[in-house]
Amino acid sequence: MNHSSSPAPARLFAVIVAAGRGSRFGGPLPKQYADLKSCAVLRETAQAFLRYRSPVSVLVVIHPDDRELYDEAVAGLDLLAPVHGGATRQDSVRLGLEALEAAPQDIVMIHDAARPLLDPAIIDRAIAVLETSDAALVAIPVRDTIKRGAAGHVAATVDRENLWRAQTPQVFRYGKIIAAHRAAVGLDLTDDAAVAEQAGMKVELVMGSEDNFKITTADDLARANRLVGAAYEFRTGQGFDVHQLVEGDHVWINGIRIPHTAKLLGHSDADVGLHALTDALLGAIGAGDIGNHFPPTDERWRGADSSKFLAHAGQLVAEKGGRITHCDVTIICERPKIGPHRAAMIARIAEILGIDVDRVSVKATTTEELGFTGRREGIAAQAVATVRLPARD
Ligand code: MG
Repeated sequence: MNHSSSPAPARLFAVIVAAGRGSRFGGPLPKQYADLKSCAVLRETAQAFLRYRSPVSVLVVIHPDDRELYDEAVAGLDLLAPVHGGATRQDSVRLGLEALEAAPQDIVMIHDAARPLLDPAIIDRAIAVLETSDAALVAIPVRDTIKRGAAGHVAATVDRENLWRAQTPQVFRYGKIIAAHRAAVGLDLTDDAAVAEQAGMKVELVMGSEDNFKITTADDLARANRLVGAAYEFRTGQGFDVHQLVEGDHVWINGIRIPHTAKLLGHSDADVGLHALTDALLGAIGAGDIGNHFPPTDERWRGADSSKFLAHAGQLVAEKGGRITHCDVTIICERPKIGPHRAAMIARIAEILGIDVDRVSVKATTTEELGFTGRREGIAAQAVATVRLPARD
């Protein structure tokens, strides 16, 4: 009987290189932290691996100055602890590899942080190649005619046959690529396939895709934003609230204090408009209702400013990677007149949610003196909110 154990199945690792400064980008942030729809480019890139059908342990190599940007960009994602990069890309990759607790046969995918639009089919193809080759280089064939220039003039037309543009991921067995990197220290090679070539490894070309481009310029970022637009879904939530009118001298509606001949009765400030809108936002993200988050039995919320409730709902949307596209509140009452306060209400709601005023609508109607609102026994409010969330498979 054979007592030797069979080798453990290869585990998958990704090393994402995010240590660059992105000086060609021109924006205020390194390109890997620029805003791609509602989150950082780096977050999209990391999620491309986290969404892969097999588990991938993801490590990001960052610039030492970027720790806060990194923490914000990947908040809530299950990643390995980040590693500080070195002076060159090659150094950064080696430092990332050294930090992995991987076995020689484990598979490591080295990927640029600024390539967020990585299709899982590319990962499939690259991993499959390792059955027969030492390394997989994702690349696409050159289709444009290539010219060699000299002093602003064409010096030669280069035969494009057999020319490929290298992309990432570049995929290796851990034992071989870390040995190759250790041997290549100081050579300043521009990609990991070159490190592998230097070590005499056989590197197989794997078809990449035009969408797997590297965000380098502001135009690239705009293109990436157009492409990821399709990966979002829109959700709508609705909310309804009523508060009773009792003796008093003012009401709070949509965050605005309005002198009145009565007040609204409630545990908090009884802002019927903000309560309806808070419920609409919670509804859009399936997060229960205002009573779950702020129980009326809780003394903390006695007399509370309802802007806290609305801000909390907005924060929950943000934590899901969402953006509030639009919200619309209708106040149902005979008095007070809402019209004179409409602009202030819109501005206040926009301020609480951190969105533009053109994403907020406030309307009012009476019920023609019918029902409890018509008899001025109470005020009702309805709200609808539309939220854009990252799509899930
Ligand atoms: Mg209420």
